[in-house]
Formats: sequence, C-alpha cells, structure tokens
Amino acid sequence: MAQSVKGMRDLFGAELRWFQHIEETARRCFERHGYREIRTPILEELEVFKRSVGDSSDIVKKEMYDFEDKGGRHVVMRPENTAGVVRAAIQHKLLTSSDPVLFYYIGPQFRYERMQTGRYRQFWQIGAESFGVASPESDAESLVMLYDFLRELGLAKLTFSLNSVGTPESRPAFQAAFRAFFAARQERFCGDCHRRIEENPLRVLDCKVPTCQAALEGHPLISDFLDEGSLRHHARLKELLSELGVPFTEDPRLVRGLDYYTKTAFEVLSGDIGAQSAILGGGRYDLLVKHLGGPDVPAFGWAIGLDRLAMVLQQVRGEAPQTPPALLIPLGERAATEALKLARDLWKAGVALQLETRGGALKKALASANRLGIQTVLILGDGELDAGTVTVKHMATGEQESWPLSEVSKRLGGLSLD
Ligand code: AMP
Repeated sequence: MAQSVKGMRDLFGAELRWFQHIEETARRCFERHGYREIRTPILEELEVFKRSVGDSSDIVKKEMYDFEDKGGRHVVMRPENTAGVVRAAIQHKLLTSSDPVLFYYIGPQFRYERMQTGRYRQFWQIGAESFGVASPESDAESLVMLYDFLRELGLAKLTFSLNSVGTPESRPAFQAAFRAFFAARQERFCGDCHRRIEENPLRVLDCKVPTCQAALEGHPLISDFLDEGSLRHHARLKELLSELGVPFTEDPRLVRGLDYYTKTAFEVLSGDIGAQSAILGGGRYDLLVKHLGGPDVPAFGWAIGLDRLAMVLQQVRGEAPQTPPALLIPLGERAATEALKLARDLWKAGVALQLETRGGALKKALASANRLGIQTVLILGDGELDAGTVTVKHMATGEQESWPLSEVSKRLGGLSLD
C-alpha cells in the first residue's frame, strides 16, 4: 500500500476544518486592512532564495527541495514565501509608484527538515507583506492586524517580543564587538558557529546547540550599537503599540536569522498552551527588494505557521466552529424525485443540506445522520408529499414535527421559497 511521502501529510476532518477556519479569518482580517492576496508558484529559481534567505542559512544549505528540471533549470520548491512575493512584485513592476502595496499569501512551503513533532516537510504559512512605507506607523499597522487576527481566532495570552537589529551602518561596530567576544571563547563554540562568525555573526545567536547557547552568556547586544534613526524608530513603535493596547516585551537577544532584516525584529509568544512559546516571527526588511534587483522600497512582513497554529487552537478551543448541514431522506421512488427538486430549491435559497441518495431503509439513513453529527433530519415520504409537508426529526431530542413544504427553507435559515 502506498503511503504519503515522509514528512508530508494529508489534511482532512477536524484538522482541516481548523485550517479552513484560520484561512477564512485571515482573509477577512487582512482584506479589512486593504491587503490583497498574492499567489506565487511553488517552484522558483534557486537564485531567488540564495539571494534573499541567504547562502549561509540552514534553509539554503541543508533544507531545500531543489532539483534540475527537464530543461536543465535549477529549481527549488519554495521553503518560504517572502522571496517569491518580492520576486513577483519586482517582475510585474508593482513597486514602481510611490503608493504602498499590501499583500498577503496563504500556501504550502517545503523544507527537508529532520522530523520532530509539529515539524513537517510540507507545511503551510500565512503571511503579510507591506511594501513602500518606512515609518514605524507601518510596523504598528501590520502588528495590530496580526494581533487582532490572533485574538479573533481565540488566542488570549499573546505577547509581542521586540528588538531592533539596526541598519547596515550600525552593524559593523556590533559585529566587531561580537567577533572579539567570540574570539575570547572560541573553543566553546561548535564548528557551524565558527563558519557563521565568518559569514554572518548574527547567526551565531540562532545556534541551537546548548553549549553554544551557554557560551553566549553576556554577549554584546545589538541594541547597544544602534544608530539614531533605528533608536527613534524603535521608541516610536513601542509608543504606538502601548497606545493600541498590544502587549509587548523587549528582547535584546532577539535577532532574525535572515540577512535582509533591518530595524524591527519581532516574535509573537503565546502562553495559551503551557509555557510561553514563539508562534511566529517577522520584521522590517528595507533592503531585500533592492537586493533582489528591484527599486529601493522598504518593507515589513511576517509569516505564521498554519500547522502549528491549528494545533494550538485545537488544544485551546477543541473542535473548529462548524454548522453541520441538515439531511433530507426520501422514502420511495416518487419521493426520490421530489426530494432532489426540493433540495435544489433549498440549495438555491442558501440552505446547507445533504441529500440521502442511497435509497433503502430509514433506519440506516438515521444511523448515518447520527455518525455525521447532523442535528436536523427531514423525511419525505408519500404521506408527506400528499399533505405538502415534511417530517422533521431533531436528532438531539428525538422529537418529531411536521413543517409545511413552503416553510422549510425559512426554518432552516434560508431565503423564503415563494
Ligand atoms: P520561519 O519562516 O522559519 O521564520 O518560520 C515561520 C513559521 O513557520 C514558524 O513559526 C513555524 O510555525 C512555521 N514553520 C517553519 N518551519 C516549519 C516546519 N518544518 N513545519 C511546520 N511549521 C514550520
């Protein structure tokens, strides 16, 4: 029997219902802010990720699904979506006017990761990217949209963890101090960190090896080396978040592992299941668009993992909200025809209704209704047809009543059939 590829899973039932609920809520929340959806291809040229996510990142070095296609192109199944969105925005000249451009995306991403709980090789992300505005007000707009989205989903114990990673002008002084710190205790760091300190010192902070984390105790903080502009930006963002009632803490050790981040870096911590843990991250990336060959356009964005979010919501809230349809059961051949016609009228009127098309015994159909969690069953037999009614069985109580056919739609929350 064939099985799904390792690290890739089928989505259905209760888990998929959460995915759908999250996606519907995301679209509603983001469109309300003026963001519009963008869908980019799953395959991109390797260069797109080498230049954006960075040659030295774990994603590019170890985790990419990349291969040569039949035309000899070196392509990658996207490991994240920001690079593709920026590539598309440049290609279609969407960033050439001075107007802000607001995009969100929802889609699968691929990383060849070591397997562990909640980590998949195909996983889903929802993200928002705002292009063209460098102000702290733009950061605040995106963050409050994210906060209200997560609150609307039902997460209550949220905190933003904030830092500023400054600009390329303020980084050399920090890097020099950090390299000196590293050099003084280099024997305590792993081989990967020795490579990182050469290529991109900030990445050493991301190392997951416990002895490296211990060796980092007391390291120089990027926040002590910030330029005037970054400091002002950061102070203003904090002021705005306080005004908006978005809870945050400062984390001077928070850096994003990607090369193109400038100024604001953030994570969202959730205490909704057990100890506080990060559920997403993002920040400002004023340099990426130009770096990928586009105009000099600032940007702010973030991405949240849908798999993880669905899992948290399932634990916090149980089943995803869903109204089961009613079930219409015809008894006999004449009723089977009339039931199809009635069902069609009800569907047109906007009623959620499942039609029993197997024929056969009522008992079997009612047992199915029970298993499907259906609350309302409509029974249509010859007697009902002659009287112009349906028999309605409320599954929770077992009670039965008779409704005139003309009232069925209205009583099930649809438009009137007349
Ligand atoms: P990143 O693009 O690495 O900053 O990740 C953003 C979010 O995507 C994380 O907070 C995770 O929730 C999610 N994510 C990243 N990698 C995976 C994975 N392999 N499986 C499931 N979710 C992931």
